[in-house]
Amino acid sequence: MSKIPSITLNNGVEMPQLGFGVWQVADDEAFTAVGHALEAGYRSIDTAAAYENEAGTGKALAASGIDRGELFVTTKLWNSDQGYDATLRAFDASLSKLGLDYVDLYLIHWPIWWRGETVNTYRAFEKILADGRAKAIGVSNFQPHHLEQLAAETSVVPAVNQIELHPQFAQAEARAYHAQHNIATEAWSPLGQGKDLLDDPKIAAVARKHGVTPAQTVLRWHIQLGNIVIPKSVTPSRIKENIDVFGFELDDEDLASIATLDSGTRLGPDPETSDL
Ligand code: NAD
Repeated sequence: MSKIPSITLNNGVEMPQLGFGVWQVADDEAFTAVGHALEAGYRSIDTAAAYENEAGTGKALAASGIDRGELFVTTKLWNSDQGYDATLRAFDASLSKLGLDYVDLYLIHWPIWWRGETVNTYRAFEKILADGRAKAIGVSNFQPHHLEQLAAETSVVPAVNQIELHPQFAQAEARAYHAQHNIATEAWSPLGQGKDLLDDPKIAAVARKHGVTPAQTVLRWHIQLGNIVIPKSVTPSRIKENIDVFGFELDDEDLASIATLDSGTRLGPDPETSDL
C-alpha cells in the first residue's frame, strides 16, 4: 500500500496530499466507491453538501472500522446556505448526514461575493473552528482578490483554497499567491475530468518513459508541484491506480513538456461570473 505524504496546513493540521473526490457519485454508489478507496489506502475524502452523498460517504467511513483520527474528511457549504445563521444550520446538517462530530476541513464552495454574505459566512466558519467542530477551515474557487477581501475583514487565514487545476489550467498566479500567504492549493478536476488531457500525446510520452499510465503521470505532476489532489473514480482498478503515484519521479524535461499544455482553459464555471 502506498504511503501518502501529508501537507502541513497553516494551523498545524496534517492533510494527506492525495485524497478521493466524490462529485457526481450518487449516494449509494458513494458508499461503495469510498469503501473501495479506503481499502486501497486513501484516508482523505472530499465531499460536499451539494454532492448529496454525505450520508453514503459517512456510512462507508463508519463501515470501514478505521479510527476517526486516521481519516481526513472534507465537506463544503453550498451557496444557498451562505450567511452566518444559515451556515451554522447547514454545517449541523452536514455533520449529521456524515454521522460525525467534527470534520477535518470545511470549505466555502464558491465565493458568490456579489450576494454580500461571504464574510458573514466565513465568520460562522471561524466559530465552527473555534468550537473544534472543524479542524481547519478554508475556501474553494476563490480568486486572489477574494482572498484579499476576506483577509481585510476576518482573522483566520484559510488553510486551503480548492480550485480547478490541471495541466491545461495550471493556475500559476493563484498558486504563487497561495504560497505567499501560506494557503495550501488543492486541485479539483486534477485529471481534467478524464477528458482529452489523458489522451494527450505529450502526457502519453512521459507516461511511457516511466512505465506508468497517463492518469498517474498527471497526478505525479500535481504531487511534485506541491498540490493537494482529490481524483475521482468509481472503478476499483482506477481507484488503486490513482493512489499508486509515489514510486516514480518526473524529471525537469517531463515537467517542461507538461508545462506546454497550459492553455488557460477552464472545464468548470468561472468564479467571477457564474451564479450557481
Ligand atoms: P477528475 O479530474 O478527478 O476526473 C475524474 C474522471 O476521470 C472520472 O470520472 C473518470 O472518467 C476519469 N478517470 C479517473 N481515474 C482515471 C484513470 N486512472 N484512468 C483514466 N480515466 C480516469 O474530476 P472531478 O471529479 O471533476 O474532480 C475530482 C474531485 O474534485 C471531485 O470528485 C470533487 O471532490 C472535487 N471537485 C470540486 C469542485 C469545487 O468546486 N470545489 C469542482 C469539481 C470537482
